Amino acid sequence: MKIYFASLSPCNTRKVNARQIIDFIKSCGHEILENPKGADMIFVWGCGFRNDWREFTFAVIRELKQIYKSSKIVYTGCIFPGKFAESIKKELDVEVIPWKDATKKIEKILKEKTKDLYSQKLNLIEDKIVDNLEEYRKANPHAKVWFEDEYIKLNICEGCRGYCTYCSEKLMFPKFRSFPEEDIINQCKELMKKSNSKKVLFLSDSSGEYGKDTNSSLPKLIKRMKDEIDKDINFGITQINPEHFWENKEEMFALVKDGTIEYMNLPIQTANDKTLKLMNRKYNSQQIKFLFDKFKEYGFKNYSTHLLVGFPGEEEKEVEENIALLSNYQFRHIIVSAFMNHPAIEASKFENQISDEDKKNRVLHYSQKLSEKGITVHSDLGGISNRMMENIRIKLDIPLKNI
Ligand code: SF4
Repeated sequence: MKIYFASLSPCNTRKVNARQIIDFIKSCGHEILENPKGADMIFVWGCGFRNDWREFTFAVIRELKQIYKSSKIVYTGCIFPGKFAESIKKELDVEVIPWKDATKKIEKILKEKTKDLYSQKLNLIEDKIVDNLEEYRKANPHAKVWFEDEYIKLNICEGCRGYCTYCSEKLMFPKFRSFPEEDIINQCKELMKKSNSKKVLFLSDSSGEYGKDTNSSLPKLIKRMKDEIDKDINFGITQINPEHFWENKEEMFALVKDGTIEYMNLPIQTANDKTLKLMNRKYNSQQIKFLFDKFKEYGFKNYSTHLLVGFPGEEEKEVEENIALLSNYQFRHIIVSAFMNHPAIEASKFENQISDEDKKNRVLHYSQKLSEKGITVHSDLGGISNRMMENIRIKLDIPLKNI
């Protein structure tokens, strides 16, 4: 078959999974096209976690159906499974395969009887895109690049073993697994022979849990990569839950202090103990303060965190307390996002839901107050950037007039 694969995913972490499906399709003898014209089948990898991206993905699928009438459309990616996927299938009248259930269903739709997607070797690594982000942006003002693109990106594990009550992503993930350490080491070794970068960014949904299922750990992996690949590698780490940093704190602090870890994303969501409990986050405000005080003591500022605003029961004094605490520290940036409700998540059943208007005002309040303290804030009130839409319109050759 002639197959076109449209990846409408806003995050770097899922690229490895889209790559795996594309490699699997090729390994089954099908041709991957450069654009959707003449495709027998069009796969759309979309993001069902964020409301804005979900609506955008649906709009793209509707337009693809209108224009490429003879192509079979398959919607896959981060999608709520079960009855939610069934209702999307009815609404869009396309095949819907949540990534969580991709194994077996992708084989079936490709009529593949001998190979299975799960055994398809994962291409875990992607070379850096830019040497220096600021210089690149000056030279290419419309380029869609982010500081993560200064790094070699290396996926180390997928899924998560946590049960945060606000989390919808977890419901879309397959079972947690660390990727084979030999593959991580060998693929990084191979790429670094060609790349002039020694900066590696670990991508995952829950980096701190790496190795829990393979008798390894994040500090062990880092030490092994420095021993076996290059002693001068510096690491960036995405999505490390403070709970898991704490579990390995002596080793992790040592790696921060000696500069081996040069960037970290450590989502705290809030520093309010009552709300952390309701969120089912396994750390408290004292531990957050201890972590940030240590980073301050080491002069380590190149870390970011997330604040989740408008969680059910959140009081305005909690917002002020968080601002007061965070104003004592320096961050690379803070991402402030509004709590996104969905019937599939536990917190949707909690009392004291906060109105969208109040959530929006609190996000803006955080943004203003923290910016006044010199902290870079990325406030996420949803919405797809025009630049992103333009990129996808051109790539798919569709008008995107229904957006
Ligand atoms: S740790 Fe992150 S991915 Fe895991 S359940 Fe919590 S919010 Fe979701």
